[in-house]
Amino acid sequence: NVAAVLPGSHDTLKDEYVVYTAHSDHIGVIKDMSREDNINNGAMDNASGVSVMLETARLFVESGQEFDRSIMFLSVTAEEKGLLGADYFANNPTVPLNSIVANVNLDMPVLLYDFADIIAFGASHSTLGETVSKAAKQFDTEQSPDPMPEQAIFTRSDHYTLVKKGIPAVFLMTGFNSRTEGEDGGEVWGKFFAEHYHKPSDGLNLDINYEAGARFTNINFAIGKEIANADQRPQWLEESFFGKQFND
Ligand SMILES: [Zn+2]
Repeated sequence: NVAAVLPGSHDTLKDEYVVYTAHSDHIGVIKDMSREDNINNGAMDNASGVSVMLETARLFVESGQEFDRSIMFLSVTAEEKGLLGADYFANNPTVPLNSIVANVNLDMPVLLYDFADIIAFGASHSTLGETVSKAAKQFDTEQSPDPMPEQAIFTRSDHYTLVKKGIPAVFLMTGFNSRTEGEDGGEVWGKFFAEHYHKPSDGLNLDINYEAGARFTNINFAIGKEIANADQRPQWLEESFFGKQFND
């Protein structure tokens, strides 16, 4: 794991942390040597997420603003082997666990179309849902509900290791609506998943939409800024499964 911290400026809130996570590993090479290219590059899974996180760090630093809480940018390893790096961090945190107020996780943002909406897995469980909506609206983007709840995606990426410790989290993904006339974002997303996910073709030959990358990053930055400066730390909603587990 690699972690960097931007210290907060508030007397007491600076001892609390907003943690961004993005996994930096992928799945190595495929054994089939008959192929011309057997390297799984992982451009969308998850170089895109790591890039968004690094760019978000740049935005925080270059904004010239001060933030009440501290921000941690945490690149975790071995996600593909079962969230190992994130699990290690959750069990050996470099800051006290109860000082981590929220986790915003970036894993495989499919930046191949000019998305018009954003999905935040976990949004229905905590006040972070509202935070995401507010941040997205600033960039003319709606928040859509989880389009595939049967997949239980909220339990399947790095943030979940921190969720199990009681820390509210959201896992961001591009929504299935596109701003481009006649384009179906869900179709582009589905085609990526069917044809390139965990294959050598998840590389720079994909038609990467850098405008979408910039918008996704701006929203991600706005989410962290809002959490960092809010009077109250994010809360699990009472009626949520996690609220029942973790709220007193
Ligand atoms: Zn993967």
